[in-house]
Amino acid sequence: MDTRVPLAAAVVLGVALNWPRLPDAAPASAPPERFSATRALVPLAAWAAEPRPTGSPAHAAVLDDLSAALTTSGFEVRREVSPDGRLVNLVAAAPGAPVGGVWLTAHSDSVPRAPGAADDGLGLAVVTEAARAISVGGVPAGLHVLVTDGEELGLLGAKAHVAADRASSGEGERASRLVLNVEARGTEGPAYMFQTAGPEGELLQAWRESGCGAQATSLAHSIYAVLPNDTDFTVFRRAGWWGYDFALIDGAWRYHTPEDTPANLSPASVQAVGDCVTGLARAWLGREPGFGAPKPEGARVYAQVGGATVEAPGWAVRLAAALPLLLLRPSRRVLVGAGAWALALTAAMGLAIFAMVPLAAVWPGFATRPAEALHPYPLFGLALALGVGCAGGALRLLRPFSPVGGWLDLAAIGAAVVAVALPAAGYALVPGVWAAALRARGYERMAVAGALAAGVLIGPVLLGACVGLTSRMLPVLALLPLLTLGWGIPRGAAIGNQPRPQPRGP
Ligand SMILES: [Zn+2]
Repeated sequence: MDTRVPLAAAVVLGVALNWPRLPDAAPASAPPERFSATRALVPLAAWAAEPRPTGSPAHAAVLDDLSAALTTSGFEVRREVSPDGRLVNLVAAAPGAPVGGVWLTAHSDSVPRAPGAADDGLGLAVVTEAARAISVGGVPAGLHVLVTDGEELGLLGAKAHVAADRASSGEGERASRLVLNVEARGTEGPAYMFQTAGPEGELLQAWRESGCGAQATSLAHSIYAVLPNDTDFTVFRRAGWWGYDFALIDGAWRYHTPEDTPANLSPASVQAVGDCVTGLARAWLGREPGFGAPKPEGARVYAQVGGATVEAPGWAVRLAAALPLLLLRPSRRVLVGAGAWALALTAAMGLAIFAMVPLAAVWPGFATRPAEALHPYPLFGLALALGVGCAGGALRLLRPFSPVGGWLDLAAIGAAVVAVALPAAGYALVPGVWAAALRARGYERMAVAGALAAGVLIGPVLLGACVGLTSRMLPVLALLPLLTLGWGIPRGAAIGNQPRPQPRGP
C-alpha cells in the first residue's frame, strides 16, 4: 500500500486536532476574580498611544499609571532605581511579603519607533489585570509583580533587579521564585509558552492543573535555545529561578514597527495569555511555602495532541528513535550515501538561504512582508506545501544521480539521528522512523499506522513553524518533511532497490 495518502490525511488531521482555539475576550462585566481582556485593554490604550523608550516622558507617565493601578489592587509598589540612575523597575507585593513566591513579569519600555501595544504592552496589561484578579479579597503573600525597564536596551532592568537581589541575599539563602514572563513578537494568534526554567516534570504538572490552553512543545524550547533572541526570562533563568515564558508570535511583521498599536492587538489573544498566567499563578501559589531548590532531572519531551499536553522523558524518545534502526540494518554503502546526501542537502539549503540575501537587499521588507501577504494560516500552509513539493520534486529528478538507493533508509537514518541527538526537538520524527523501518522489512500495514502517528505529530509542528518563522526560513523548514516523507516514495523506485532487468529470452 502506498503510505502517501494516509500520511497526507494524518498531517491534515494533526493540524486540525491542534488548530488553535482562542477564547472569547471576557467582558468588563466578568466576575472580578476572573481575568478579563476587555478590562486589561482599557488602560493599554493610553500606555501604547505613543512610543515609550526608557527615559522618555511617555515612559515616566506609564510607570506612574502602572504604579497607581497596582496600588489600587492592594500592592505596595517600590521603585527600584539602577545604580546609574537610568532605569526604574517597579517591584510590587503585599506589604511586608517575603521575596519568595510567584513573580508576574513584563517590561515597561518600548523601542523608539513602535508604540509597543503588544511588545510589551501585552505584558503590562496581562500582569496588572492578572495581579488584580488574583488579589480580590487581599494580595496573597506569595504574589509579586516586577515591571522591568530597559529590556529593549539589552535586558538591563532585569539584570539590575537580579544584581540587587544577589546583593541583598546571601548565596545560600536565596528565596525560590517562579516567574511568569509575558512578551510579544507578534500581535495576535494563540498564546505560546516557548521556554521553561526549572524541573520540567513539576512545571508540566502545574501546567496541567492550571488548565492553560497555550501552545507548548519542547521543540519550540529547543529552537529558542539556539536563537540569538533573548527576553528578560533569560536573565531570570540564569539566576536560577523557575518559570514559564509566554509570547504572541503571530502577526510578527508588526513587531517593533509603528503598526504595533492597540487596534492591532487581538483581545482574544490577550485573553488566552491572561487565562494561562492567572491559572498558573494560582496553581503555584497553592504550592506553599516555596518550591525548594531545583532537583536534577532529565529533559522532558512534551507536545500538544488534540489540546492535551503529552510528555515523555528524553531517554525514552532516544530509545524509541534508535530501536527501529535495528530493523533497518543499514549497510555501509547506505550509511556512506546517507552522509553524502546529508551534506548535499545542507549545501543546497545553505545556497537557498544565501540566495535570499541579495533579494532582501533590493527589497528591504522581504523577510517579513511575504509573511503578511500569506496570512492567514491556510495560505502559510499552502505556501509551505508548495515549497516542500518543489523541493521533493527536485530531489526526485536528482535520484538517478544518487550514490546509493533506498531513500527510505536515508530518510529514516537522518530522522533517527536527529531524534536521538535532540529528542526535545526531534520527537515528531520518531513515528516516521518506525514507519520507514517497518516498510523496509515488508510490514506494510504497520508502516501505515506509523505514518498516521507521524502525521498527527508533524502536523502541529508544521503549523507552529509556519506561524513562528518568517519566509526566510522556509527552505530550512523543507528539510523536516523531507526527512519524514522519504518513505512515501515507492520503495521499488529507488535505484538500489530496483529489480534487475530480466535477461530477454532468445
Ligand atoms: Zn519585548
